[in-house]
Amino acid sequence: MVLIPARMSEAEEQRWVNVMLDKLAAQESRRAFGDTELAERAERLSAQYFDGRARPRSVRWVTNQNTRWGSCTPSEGSIRLSHRLQGMPEYVVDYVLCHELAHLLVPGHGPGFWRLLEAYPKTERARGYLEGVVAAARSPHPPEVRDE
Ligand SMILES: [Zn+2]
Repeated sequence: MVLIPARMSEAEEQRWVNVMLDKLAAQESRRAFGDTELAERAERLSAQYFDGRARPRSVRWVTNQNTRWGSCTPSEGSIRLSHRLQGMPEYVVDYVLCHELAHLLVPGHGPGFWRLLEAYPKTERARGYLEGVVAAARSPHPPEVRDE
C-alpha cells in the first residue's frame, strides 16, 4: 500500500509515488543481497568447498575498502567484502568469499592456499574477471584481492 497525503496535485502525486517506488526498490535490492545473505552464502560455500571447516563469525559488506576486493582477520573470524563487488557476477563474489574463507584455514598465498582454493571451480575465471575490471579502470591504485 502506498499512502498519499491529501490534497496533492496530480503531478505531485505522481512524483510522490515514484519516490516511494524508488525507495521500495532500493530496500528490495538491499534485502536481496545484504549482509545476512552474504553470511548465508559464505556458510554454503564453506560447506560445499571446504567441508564446512571455514567458520567465519562475521561476513559483511564494507564501503571503506578501496584497495582490496576482500579481506579477513583470522583472529576475529571476520570477513569483509568491498561494496564494489556488488553488481558483479555471482561467481566473482563467490570467488572472493571462498578466497577469504580459505584464509581462515591457511594464511598467506603459498601453494597450500591455492591448492585449497582449487576446490572452487571458477577461481581462474573469477581472477581473470577481476584483473579485467582493474585493467579497464586503469586506476593508479587498482583494487585487488590482497591480505596481510
Ligand atoms: Zn588473500
